[in-house]
Amino acid sequence: MRTPVVAGNWKMNGTRASVSELLAGVKQGQPPSTVETVVCAPYPYLPQVEAALAGSGIRWGAQNVSEHAAGAYTGEVSVAMLQDFGCSHVILGHSERRSLFAEQDPGIAEKFVAVTAAGLTPILCVGETLEQREAGATGQVVEQQLMAVIQRAGVAALAGAVLAYEPVWAIGTGRTATPEQAQAVHAALRARVAQEDAAVAAKLPILYGGSVKADNAAELFACEDIDGGLIGGASLKADDFLQICRAAAA
Ligand code: PEP
Repeated sequence: MRTPVVAGNWKMNGTRASVSELLAGVKQGQPPSTVETVVCAPYPYLPQVEAALAGSGIRWGAQNVSEHAAGAYTGEVSVAMLQDFGCSHVILGHSERRSLFAEQDPGIAEKFVAVTAAGLTPILCVGETLEQREAGATGQVVEQQLMAVIQRAGVAALAGAVLAYEPVWAIGTGRTATPEQAQAVHAALRARVAQEDAAVAAKLPILYGGSVKADNAAELFACEDIDGGLIGGASLKADDFLQICRAAAA
């Protein structure tokens, strides 16, 4: 039995005032205790998130991190800094980081190693573009993204991780993968991990991300290998995010 996870990716959105309102709404709505609920905030708001959520049972994290421990890396943020603000999770390899900031599998794998070595939970994102899907390359693309990390970090490092399947064509587009499309990729990802270690595969939470909304979450989360969601736009509205958390508990 895997604990469902619902993680909000706020992306580069928010002000002190809107973060305060959003956190108050999520806290007041009390996401189900049977769902691991996480919010991944922009760096400047992490102290505010920590102050608001400490002791609430809701966890928080960041959307990226440096693979380096400390030093002359202007503009970067280390794993230890995230820990200093109580972060438990870090999104790694989001498609926006891959496409807009040229992140590639080897660097993402280094970040994965740094995050797991410190005991934080990476949310590793994999997913194909529309062109890749139409070319029939979905399985090959996501397997390559996954295996780059397994080969560098070892399959045992996945024991403390979360995997997120996020088809690029579904992120922020309003076009969601059908439950059948998503389940097929999730099952293939789990089977690939099982080839390396069946016990790790059985326990690995695999989240779906890509235009998950309050009205489509339940049918996605009902699929056998979909263990919750990574939520972008809908995580910015407390009521929508809470409904998605409740759908994961059902
Ligand atoms: C995301 O940013 O990870 C995401 C899934 O976004 P959205 O839910 O807005 O498609």
